[in-house]
Amino acid sequence: MQRLIDRLRRERTLPPADLRLLLEACHDDATTLSYLNAQAREVAQAHFGRGIFIRGLIEVSNCCRNNCYYCGIRKGNTHVERYRLSTEQVLGCCRQGYALGFRTFVMQGGEDPAQTDDWVERTVAAIRREYPDCAITLSLGEKSREAYERFFRAGANRYLLRHETHDATHYAQLHPAGMTISHRLQCQRQLKEIGYQTGTGIMVGSPGQTLDHILEDIFYIEELQPEMIGIGPFLPHHDTPFASCPPGTVEQTVALLSIFRLMHPAALIPSTTALATLAPDGRERGILAGANVVMPNLSPVEDRKKYELYNNKAALGAESAEGLSALRRQLQAIGYDISFARGDFKM
Ligand code: SAH
Repeated sequence: MQRLIDRLRRERTLPPADLRLLLEACHDDATTLSYLNAQAREVAQAHFGRGIFIRGLIEVSNCCRNNCYYCGIRKGNTHVERYRLSTEQVLGCCRQGYALGFRTFVMQGGEDPAQTDDWVERTVAAIRREYPDCAITLSLGEKSREAYERFFRAGANRYLLRHETHDATHYAQLHPAGMTISHRLQCQRQLKEIGYQTGTGIMVGSPGQTLDHILEDIFYIEELQPEMIGIGPFLPHHDTPFASCPPGTVEQTVALLSIFRLMHPAALIPSTTALATLAPDGRERGILAGANVVMPNLSPVEDRKKYELYNNKAALGAESAEGLSALRRQLQAIGYDISFARGDFKM
């Protein structure tokens, strides 16, 4: 297995059959997994040193017109107390974040029809005016090409839109009729064409996911060459159709983080909140597997628990912007530190 991993590092790809062997080996062989993680860590350090980029996550709305089976803020969940932030509130989050040292703001939310394209455009423009030195990332789901263009012209630089799974049948197991993988992929192509640094990714261990699906995702991502790759475990939410489905595992998540790092040395890869929620040392294990970004929560404290995508989503302590010193201590304990740089994608 070590030879396969060395080859993956050298050639930045492997034939599907070898990748399958590697993923299977990681499943029940801790030595293989830790060797894979160590190789990926070296590649990340060669590219980024020991600085971990921070992005301030602003959850702009938990209202959503979609009904994704995995997601806690799906339209069909009547137990959610809904909120949406105003432009002023978003700017307030940015101000707080800027003072703490954040130079990237991520606006993430449900697909909220009341936060119209005009609203997003105006809000992006307002952030751009006040913070010309910051990167603005959007994660607002599927929009029209025209909307993506308007947001880009208003000053947005990056867009996160995970494809979730490349397999059409599996996609249909995770999403209701009306949502299709072909539309999702079309959105990603448009984002790239417009000039966004584009992020994709998957949930690890989502219901119905097989090793074949994961291999297909790996090769799709190899073809797309995204600037950002978001990989986190699926975690159930009690008020969704997947309430009783088992979560993804830390081991499979960190194996995939490392494989993506070896295949995409320059990519921006977060150690996700979902991984930190799944295990107390999840964030650290993600970084030690080659991740180089963390996204602390900058949302207004009173709304944070309402943006519950899955059970027990971490939003306080080192997951929060106020907890930056705790985060810094955690990182320093494993030999890393926060980087306050804007952290754009660079080959
Ligand atoms: N509405 C936006 C933002 C969604 S939240 C969009 O659809 O792109 C961002 C990511 O959270 C999603 O892409 C999904 O992969 C992840 N997510 C949602 N529910 C989850 C769950 N139950 N477990 C783990 N990750 C989840």
